[in-house]
Amino acid sequence: MKSITLKPALLGLIISSSVASVAAPVFPSPGNSRTSSHVTHVIEVKAKTAAERSRIVDLGFAIDELRSDAVYIFGKARDADTLRRAGFRATATPAKSEWFTIPQAVEAMAARFTSLTEVETQLQDLATRFPNIVEVQTLGRTNENRVTKMVRISGKSPAQAEAAKLPVIFYMGCHHAREHLSVEVPLRFAKHLVENYGRDADVTRLVDSREIYIAPIINPDGHAYDYTNGIRGRMWRKNRRRNNDGTYGVDLNRNYGYQWNTGGSSSTPSSDVYMGTAPFSEPESQNVRDFVNSQPRMTTLLSLHTFSELILYPWGWSNDSIGQNGRGNPADLPVFEKMARDMAQWNKYKPQQSSDLYIASGDTTDWAYGEHGIFAFTFELSPTSMWDGGFYPSPARIEPVFEANLKPLMYLLEFSDNPRRVLTQRAPSFLTSPAKRGVAAASFSDVQF
Ligand SMILES: [Zn+2]
Repeated sequence: MKSITLKPALLGLIISSSVASVAAPVFPSPGNSRTSSHVTHVIEVKAKTAAERSRIVDLGFAIDELRSDAVYIFGKARDADTLRRAGFRATATPAKSEWFTIPQAVEAMAARFTSLTEVETQLQDLATRFPNIVEVQTLGRTNENRVTKMVRISGKSPAQAEAAKLPVIFYMGCHHAREHLSVEVPLRFAKHLVENYGRDADVTRLVDSREIYIAPIINPDGHAYDYTNGIRGRMWRKNRRRNNDGTYGVDLNRNYGYQWNTGGSSSTPSSDVYMGTAPFSEPESQNVRDFVNSQPRMTTLLSLHTFSELILYPWGWSNDSIGQNGRGNPADLPVFEKMARDMAQWNKYKPQQSSDLYIASGDTTDWAYGEHGIFAFTFELSPTSMWDGGFYPSPARIEPVFEANLKPLMYLLEFSDNPRRVLTQRAPSFLTSPAKRGVAAASFSDVQF
């Protein structure tokens, strides 16, 4: 999650209706008090500029929602004191229980969020049903010694792909534990590719001419921790590293080794944006690093997060554009901009350079582009607001959010052979023709599930 822009009228509507209908306890039962009581309040902090927002992040706070005049942070009441001492206008309000609840316990609900075990089972099931194009692979081990799984999808064997120099593309979800929609979208995308292979001409062509890797859960320890009993999330963001001071967790999306610790992250272990003790100190970020390093043909990468409805591209660590001050290739900037704009036409998300929100160093995409020149994007998926589902939206949203992002994901796949050709070649008709399945994100943003 990086940030958000909320329609003021919608906000008013949702707040007033929530006040009327919700008389729930204000925050989840702690369970494990040391680790899950870290969020009891939402802090509103007045801030209008990227510089002000970056100062807030530098104080160690993860900005969970952003509006034109304020940001919102999930934390404790005393966080407001910290922010006031730093000169900000900050107000703490008790958090609402629905912000912590994975609402899939409703028996009648056909749609539901997927557990770690279920994700692994479903990936294996794809490989069992379609062994000629799907292979389950191990990305590596985690802090708690889990095995991180991903699928390789291609019509070509590894040897054939190597000989044909097929482009490699990597889709990832769930760097951050509580961002459950970021698991559902890549999981459904894997199924979409596999089940339409041999049926849909464009899917077949792309699966035959690309090597596709999909890892729905980069942070399985965090996901398993946040998914407790499938009912109440713990609002957990980081991995499950036991830090030296007894707190838990490193922010994996501040732990990558490019311009690590240059702003927008914290050296305090209890912080939600804790960078870790060193670049790539965490096995989960090492897993991604080692895999990407092993794939010299990788051209394109997408890291899925929630929430805010944004398409982000480097840099996050600097306000410089790609190519300024000798960092990156200036010719790549219009490619990133064009790709982000093109994808935004389908999901209606806002395309922008990551640091336009606030500075964040050590993230996946800065490293992938800065180190390898990979065209690397972050999506902040739906919804737009904590008042509209936040990290725990209704499972009724899973399918519409996937549908809204299918064309953007297919677009990346299409152009992964040579992203620079987006500047000279139009997207093929299967992307530009009227959507058979696409649902604009905006079409459900004013509906309360
Ligand atoms: Zn995130």
